[in-house]
Amino acid sequence: MSDIFSMADYLITGGTGYVPDDGLTGAQLFANGDGLTYNDFLILPGFIDFLADEVDLTSALTKKITLKAPLVSSPMDTLCGGVGVIHHNCTPEFQSNEVRKVKKYEQGFILDPVVMSSSHTVKDVVQAKKNYGFSGIPITENGHMGEKLVGLVTQRDIDFLTPDEYNTPLSEKSKKGKLPILNEDGELVALIARTDTKKNREFPLASKDEKKQLIVGAAISTHDEDKKRLEMLVQAGVDFVVLDSSQGNSVYQIDMIKYIKKLYPQVQIVGGNVVTAAQAKNLIDAGVDGLRVGMGSGSICITQEVMAVGRPQGTAVYKVAEYARRFGVPVIADGGISCVGHIMKALALGASTVMMGSLLAGTSEAPGEYFFADGVRLKKYRGMGSLDAMEKHRGSQSRYMSESDKIKVAQGVSGSIVDKGSINKFCPYLISGIQHGAQDIDP
Ligand code: IMP
Repeated sequence: MSDIFSMADYLITGGTGYVPDDGLTGAQLFANGDGLTYNDFLILPGFIDFLADEVDLTSALTKKITLKAPLVSSPMDTLCGGVGVIHHNCTPEFQSNEVRKVKKYEQGFILDPVVMSSSHTVKDVVQAKKNYGFSGIPITENGHMGEKLVGLVTQRDIDFLTPDEYNTPLSEKSKKGKLPILNEDGELVALIARTDTKKNREFPLASKDEKKQLIVGAAISTHDEDKKRLEMLVQAGVDFVVLDSSQGNSVYQIDMIKYIKKLYPQVQIVGGNVVTAAQAKNLIDAGVDGLRVGMGSGSICITQEVMAVGRPQGTAVYKVAEYARRFGVPVIADGGISCVGHIMKALALGASTVMMGSLLAGTSEAPGEYFFADGVRLKKYRGMGSLDAMEKHRGSQSRYMSESDKIKVAQGVSGSIVDKGSINKFCPYLISGIQHGAQDIDP
């Protein structure tokens, strides 16, 4: 299953030569024009000849971003975490600061650390701590990167020194809190912090960029005023932006995609939402790197009732993924995931990742306080197109209304979600569930 686009073949059509004796292929299942939700079909079991924990869940989020597990959290203001997409129901300053926090959570390979020579003194390290906030400093021959490493000074070396000892030369210090990375000639090329190696051990499935920093996305609208927000997000190091429109096939989104591609070619763009191949075509032609699929399928969504548009999510994912795969554009199945089985079905239909709102909103890491109703521990969860969210925030209005709209038409509702415990337990449960599902299905 190394090819992310092959899952649909394996699971539904039986790809690689396997043809089911009974049952239907994906193409047959979706041929008659009916719309199917995740609950309208089941996947036939295959043949097991490997262990569940051998299943590699590496998945493409966009053309250039790969995740270690196919799980993405919705850009909603009652959520955070997973590969998070930071919502835009907030000021550009707040949003870009959240992005910065994720990028700095782990520093990864520090390629331009402050370097000193052995003739520097403890005082220089104290000063560096004041100026830059860190005191783990590699010592090279003449105090420059790319020279032979001769030592390392850290906070632990100098913690209990009094100011009259500050003139001690660094050559007399030796404890270690950082791991220097050397080339074959013993020259310093990068530095890794001890706390970061600990985090790596605790969260082996965290998805990282090439500098070993966590990957993070942020949602923006297609309105002109969000160009400033975009600039700030790029400065904060955002890896991908999600163009947050409930009907993504618009001239506004196409213009924004072209604008981002021209100004910030390094930033990956997820376009959407779409539910048809025709919608997908326009965004793919404009240059998107990933597509978010779903309209009216979210648990807090009333779009299909109010606007009479949308598509059952099973069909939407299958049709869009079937088209987008020809262009190497991965699909995110967004909304309506209420159990592990739905994740399996979305992946089987051709999605590379799933985006979840309600499933993650009850975790202790999601924003908001727990409260009790009828003895059940709950957290608030609301649609971004609910009156509640739209009245308070511009981000919601831009997704669900035009600027000139005087009357707000809600496309979502507010509700509550049962306590799910910590995301640190819940995510491993989801991952293990997907691995077992893949084991049962593999032909
Ligand atoms: P859930 O996982 O079923 O709760 O769906 C989450 C998804 O619903 C989000 O990623 C959005 O695409 C979508 N969504 C969020 N707020 C609203 C809303 O107010 N109306 C319609 N869809 C919404």
